[in-house]
Amino acid sequence: MEGNGHSGSTAREEYEVREHDVLVIGAGGAGLRAAIAVAQKGMSVGVVTKSLLGKAHTVMAEGGIAAALGNVDPDDSWEQHFIDTMNSGKFINNWRKVEIYAKEAPAGVIELEQWGALFNRTEEGKIHQRPFGGHTYRRLAHIGDRTGLEMIRTLQEKLLTTDAEVYMETTVTKLFKDSQGRISGALAYTRESGKFILFKTKAIVMATGGWGRIYKVTSNSWEGTGDGIFLAYDAGAELVDMEMVQFHPTGMVWPPGVRGILVTEGVRGEGGILRNANGERFMERYDPQRMELSTRDVVARANYTEVQEGRGTPHGGVYLDITHLGYDEIMKRLPTMHEQFLKLADVDIAKEPMEVFPTVHYNMGGLKVEPESCATTIPGLFAAGEVAGGLHGANRLGGNSLGDLLVFGRRAGEGAAEYVGQSTHAAGAPDEEVQEEIRRVLEPLTKKPSDRDESPYLLQEELQEAMMQHANLMRDEDSLKEGLRKVLAIKERIPNVRVGGSRLFNPGWHAAQDIRYMANISEIIIRCALERKEKRGAQWRLDCDELVEEYGKINFVVKKNEKGEPVIERREIPPMPEHLAALFKKEKTKV
Ligand SMILES: Cc1cc2nc3c(=O)[nH]c(=O)nc-3n(C[C@H](O)[C@H](O)[C@H](O)COP(=O)(O)OP(=O)(O)OC[C@H]3O[C@@H](n4cnc5c(N)ncnc54)[C@H](O)[C@@H]3O)c2cc1C
Repeated sequence: MEGNGHSGSTAREEYEVREHDVLVIGAGGAGLRAAIAVAQKGMSVGVVTKSLLGKAHTVMAEGGIAAALGNVDPDDSWEQHFIDTMNSGKFINNWRKVEIYAKEAPAGVIELEQWGALFNRTEEGKIHQRPFGGHTYRRLAHIGDRTGLEMIRTLQEKLLTTDAEVYMETTVTKLFKDSQGRISGALAYTRESGKFILFKTKAIVMATGGWGRIYKVTSNSWEGTGDGIFLAYDAGAELVDMEMVQFHPTGMVWPPGVRGILVTEGVRGEGGILRNANGERFMERYDPQRMELSTRDVVARANYTEVQEGRGTPHGGVYLDITHLGYDEIMKRLPTMHEQFLKLADVDIAKEPMEVFPTVHYNMGGLKVEPESCATTIPGLFAAGEVAGGLHGANRLGGNSLGDLLVFGRRAGEGAAEYVGQSTHAAGAPDEEVQEEIRRVLEPLTKKPSDRDESPYLLQEELQEAMMQHANLMRDEDSLKEGLRKVLAIKERIPNVRVGGSRLFNPGWHAAQDIRYMANISEIIIRCALERKEKRGAQWRLDCDELVEEYGKINFVVKKNEKGEPVIERREIPPMPEHLAALFKKEKTKV
């Protein structure tokens, strides 16, 4: 529905008004799947994406979708997938979320296939499944090493058969609530024209992905600045496990311009061997049983340690060798990796090993949601995909994100639709609140020049450096405290950000919005990392270098107080019900 904004005087800004039963923020796998679910319930849905449709982060996913289909290893089961995921997450996962995921991921994959996704096949014609780190069985359904691309293509085509409206290059900057604290709308601006849109809506599905760009070396795209998690936190939502940042063991290291780009775990899944500069297959020392197919936290620490202790390659990484597979098989199973290394690094991976080193990849932490419907603690706000926490605990297993998008994307969409079906209140936001937010967003463009002006790019760079230096793969109290000091100093300078030019396609203006999200999230990550004094999954505290049983019983939950400061609560994890706990009695856990 189109409407007029307010004409107003020079101090007022016109804005367009749109109304939907449900607004989905994000057009990655989670957002698209949620929007399809809403449309299937016969409700009006708007999908907002700050980039173009088809460009979301999900498109970069390579290795596959983890689902216990049992196509290649018939012994696989949802129970084993549950056990593997809890073991990898070191038992701080939300066990109910994991149970739902393990049970429903196979149906998610089959549905995607029915909607047209062209998976690799076994000889009998079933969906092929490849091995991945930490999965007991061959479990990753995949489309070569371009699984995310095919997922997005399929979901997009499905979405286009519905009445969903898509708003591309449109960036949300604020969520509105009514006097009862329920979601009532969101404000966005378009990147092309800089015009504002007020979305009136009773329910929002937050599906904005992760925040890997707060680090300098990352596999994440420019979109990963953490907008959605901050907007929800700012509106009063709870966050969980924020200290858990996944460092993927294998990012490119050379040449410098491509440092951090992902080398898919599919390479190790297909038999890739890690060696140090002395030619030693060093995983024998770190996890002799699972070797290269150990979990990401273990392999990342191993790669890091090899380099730290002087056994690194000339460019500061370790070798990853897949040459034994031969050119033909590589082109069949890992064509993107072959092209990536040939084009970017002039390395033919069929003839020589790759050089790799850990890169920031994923955020296990996120918005705290109720597992059945993905509802956050704000009425009307739902969340799915990487922006939501709980599923992965202290360490995500490869392939468990793409499945998460399908399972919980659908549940979030259905949860939001059901909520709207039961609500009778009005959506919208008072004009004064809208004008206030517009003024805030425009401030970097409208403020007068001063000698205290800050560049958003330089602040982002400083922040990324600080996070690399102080909240990296390994952490200790002194360094984290120093990192916190730097991040807080950067936060204080954000009000001085000023950018030149107009609103039209102005990347500086967008960067000025992003730095607020990035700095606040960084602060929360560091504060939580300071609280968790142990080594658990992705949290590797050098000064508390062992697993502490007590910390296995709690999540750190963060909420904003009245002064706008983050408050961390230690919240006990409810005990696992007997039918799930019994699964571990047979299994020797590897915590
Ligand atoms: C290189 C790479 C390879 C990977 N491979 C795998 C794999 O093989 N298997 C696996 O399970 N996982 C993999 N992952 C992880 C997985 O791809 C991501 O976790 C997942 O795709 C995230 O999906 P999402 O829907 O939550 O968000 P995204 O796909 O990140 O989409 C976020 C959406 O939100 C929009 N958005 C953000 N902020 C705003 C805003 N303010 N206003 C409006 N819109 C906004 C963006 O424009 C985008 O449309 C990989 C990740 C990377 C980086």
